[in-house]
Amino acid sequence: MTALRFDPIRLPPECEELRKEVRAFLAEEIAAGTFNPFKPLREDADAREFSRRVGARGWIGMTWPKRYGGHERSFLERYVVTEEMRVANAPTRRFFVADRQSGPILLRYAPERIKQDILPRICRGELCFAIGMSEPNSGSDLFAAKTRATKTDGGWLINGSKIWTTSAHMADYMIAIFRTSPPTKENRRHGLTQFLVDMKTPGIKVNPIPQITGQKEFNEVVFTDAFVPDDHQLGEIDGAWKQATSELAYERSGPERFLETYYVLTELVRAVGSNPDTRSAEGIGRLVAQLHTMRRMSVSVAGMLQAGKEPVVEASIVKDIGTVWEQQLPHRVRELAAFVDEDAGNRETLETQLTFAIRTAPKLTIQGGTTEVLRGIIARGLGLR
Ligand SMILES: Cc1cc2nc3c(=O)[nH]c(=O)nc-3n(C[C@H](O)[C@H](O)[C@H](O)COP(=O)(O)OP(=O)(O)OC[C@H]3O[C@@H](n4cnc5c(N)ncnc54)[C@H](O)[C@@H]3O)c2cc1C
Repeated sequence: MTALRFDPIRLPPECEELRKEVRAFLAEEIAAGTFNPFKPLREDADAREFSRRVGARGWIGMTWPKRYGGHERSFLERYVVTEEMRVANAPTRRFFVADRQSGPILLRYAPERIKQDILPRICRGELCFAIGMSEPNSGSDLFAAKTRATKTDGGWLINGSKIWTTSAHMADYMIAIFRTSPPTKENRRHGLTQFLVDMKTPGIKVNPIPQITGQKEFNEVVFTDAFVPDDHQLGEIDGAWKQATSELAYERSGPERFLETYYVLTELVRAVGSNPDTRSAEGIGRLVAQLHTMRRMSVSVAGMLQAGKEPVVEASIVKDIGTVWEQQLPHRVRELAAFVDEDAGNRETLETQLTFAIRTAPKLTIQGGTTEVLRGIIARGLGLR
């Protein structure tokens, strides 16, 4: 059986300096009215300019090579920035997917001309990316994707649709997988190719899918003879399955995987004040202890990535434990809020945030791979199936 290993890593001192800088920056942004940390709906109008200001600070593409506009800093430093942005409820949606996922894919698989053109613009906070994996009958089973890329002069014609595509309505680009050949008998994962798609291409229609929270976050994307040039093909033709699985540790273990409903915990702490009754203190203590343990595990994965390891199973465990925890959190806080004084100053904010978080919660164990599928990956990684 493969050993499970979480190296006991702590954030180095330079991370604490950086943390202070990020906090000061966010305090300025809040004071200037860019976003409201007590309003978890991160769709503030100013997010485009906010992204550029985050880019100007050097906090997008932090770990990427300088020749592509990156900053060659560590994964642990990036961790601190992500953590502070998330805790503050900052509007990161415009740049977060590009920073976490799309940029690293381009770095690895895009032709040089594309890297030179696009990566510096991501680092400057100018570009928003979407991920085009899921289709109406292909979610967990990614390799059942049917949307076709058919070879034509100088490129490919795309026909079919993607679904649940976060940010497609505001994205400049999508990184998508399309079917370029049928699967083979020996390998049912064969036949999909990854492409960079310019969302302004004629033949792409984005249809919004309304959410229970009132957010306008994800979409259906329909392709009708949409042309993608040859140099927008990423990596090997028919070999996307090798690429899609290698990025998982980056995608699954960050602080964004357990902090999505964190604001309800801070609101509860504010509401109970400095002299909580025993039940509230015990309940909050329990939640904070769990959070602390998860954070240690998540920092450990970031440190192992920094050391060049591939902690795929450990990262999947962090995502599994983290998303189940953040999904339960609003329900636990709702129970504990029953003991909050009627006249607690932030009672209204707490109620608003709880309502929002409870509506958000169901998605948390689905996005980025469902709990059941992750547990299958963990079991396989541990040699249990
Ligand atoms: C908020 C949100 C944002 C998203 N953003 C994007 C995005 O930007 N781009 C994108 O491409 N997709 C996105 N998705 C889609 C997401 O990746 C899929 O919803 C997810 O992979 C599950 O696929 P599905 O919905 O087709 O469910 P299914 O795969 O049909 O699963 C249904 C149920 O069956 C279970 N199941 C399926 N297979 C197995 C198995 N082998 N073993 C055990 N149980 C199994 C699942 O766990 C689940 O409970 C997003 C989803 C959400 C909720």
